[in-house]
Amino acid sequence: MSDRHLTTVAGVEVDTRHFIGGRRVASAGTFPDHSPIDGALLGDIARGGAAEAEAAVAAAKAAFPAWAATSRAERARILHAVADGVEKRLEDLAQVETHDNGALLRSHRRGVMPRVAHNFRFFADWLLSLDHEDFETRGHTNHVSWDPAGPCVLITPWNAPLMLATWKVAPALAAGDTVVLKPAEWSPLTASLLADIAAEAGLPDGVLNVVQGYGAEIGDALTSHPDVRRISFTGSVPTARRIAASAAANLTPLSLELGGKSPLLVFADADLDLAVDLAVEQYDNAGQVCLAATRFLVEASVAEEFTRRFTERAARLVQGDPRDEATDIGPNIHPRQLEKIDGFVQRAVEAGARAVIGGHRGDGQCYAPTLLTDVAQGSEIVQEEVFGPVLTLQTFADEAEAVALANDTRFGLAATVATGSRERAERVTAQLVAGTVWVNCFFVRDLQAPFGGARHSGVGREGGNWSFDFYCDVKNTVTAPKGWDRKGSVEHG
Ligand code: NAD
Repeated sequence: MSDRHLTTVAGVEVDTRHFIGGRRVASAGTFPDHSPIDGALLGDIARGGAAEAEAAVAAAKAAFPAWAATSRAERARILHAVADGVEKRLEDLAQVETHDNGALLRSHRRGVMPRVAHNFRFFADWLLSLDHEDFETRGHTNHVSWDPAGPCVLITPWNAPLMLATWKVAPALAAGDTVVLKPAEWSPLTASLLADIAAEAGLPDGVLNVVQGYGAEIGDALTSHPDVRRISFTGSVPTARRIAASAAANLTPLSLELGGKSPLLVFADADLDLAVDLAVEQYDNAGQVCLAATRFLVEASVAEEFTRRFTERAARLVQGDPRDEATDIGPNIHPRQLEKIDGFVQRAVEAGARAVIGGHRGDGQCYAPTLLTDVAQGSEIVQEEVFGPVLTLQTFADEAEAVALANDTRFGLAATVATGSRERAERVTAQLVAGTVWVNCFFVRDLQAPFGGARHSGVGREGGNWSFDFYCDVKNTVTAPKGWDRKGSVEHG
């Protein structure tokens, strides 16, 4: 392996090439990958296009029959071996991810990378228990099976790179499918490490392929490919539209996990300290969390007290180097993202919003944690996803208004409700349009739960059985009993 294809990040060697059919493959061109921490060049990454997409899909197609025929037990064993590899290299993965996307090292170490390993273990175990009891129809046996579907294209964003990639890779591989993974160009490195880990764990060549490149250059060749049987995408709504249009040529089934503009509803009967805890959490990952409850909707009678306690708490947040244990908020991913965030805030202020805190850039690539009030429901800042540490606060008079405001965007990814009343929680959650609703908690996620969004937040659900329903061709086989007289009763439907 020639050195010019290796880069060293925080002491960890990372291959900057694609991984196709079990081999490292270079491209004629490269693109630069910079760290959000200090702008340092982390590496020149292989810049894939149509040729690399074609090669990766061909490799996934060639590897499919053998992997699909591999027993469930053996597939599960290999996935557990991948999880072992992730755990063995946990510190390397945490360091590289933090340098590449700027999220906190402590969360990568303690939360995110253990979760990456868990993604593999969970879907390996779920596969072994995946079953549906046979049932009878007039003496005939119905048997449901989950058959591997074929090569899958998995396209992922930069805000939680390896976590989101493995949330797709693990169930796809467990299902018996083969994979072409395309990580985001702003955070390409840990996907390359995953390829090494999977190969070392014994995953056969071609079962997991990783291609790098700009979405606009390599994306269409992947998503319009006739040999691709599933596309799972996490990212923005505009990209989802392009992918859906491209996939339409072959009617390739899609799973889309998109943006959000989720509300946090705080009722006067809530434990206000808990509500403030939940509210401050929304700055996590510098606000670059699809599920973040970025719109605070607070009952008017407690709005002043809530705002006072929130701003006190937010003022104590430490912003800075994500490698420091004391840091709560790191930098945003890219200068372009920072510009985008500031554009949203400045336009909101021009339209009459008031920055209770923040409202400006911080040091380096950081944006000051911001809370905006005096925002109109129809305004851009309330309706559009900022994907930065920018929150809005509006008040409501009663439950009906709270629900109306909560549901009044084109998104429907999540919602969080803070209330001391169980009856209210039941009434309100029943009316909210969202894929996930949390009551007096936030970000509690079990991999067996359905995950996805309503409206423009997504199409389809993944998690537990929903993942296998998506990544498999679900088949029902009906077998007649021995000696069945077909001239008996037959219904056609
Ligand atoms: P993005 O849509 O710009 O890019 C996501 C991925 O799509 C990248 O890998 C990119 O290279 C690729 N891509 C771009 N153009 C493409 C094309 N024409 N064809 C194929 N692939 C293409 O999104 P982003 O800025 O990386 O991520 C942020 C967005 O992701 C936010 O909207 C956020 O809410 C969303 N997100 C959603 C979830 C969820 O689970 N719902 C989770 C995390 C992030």
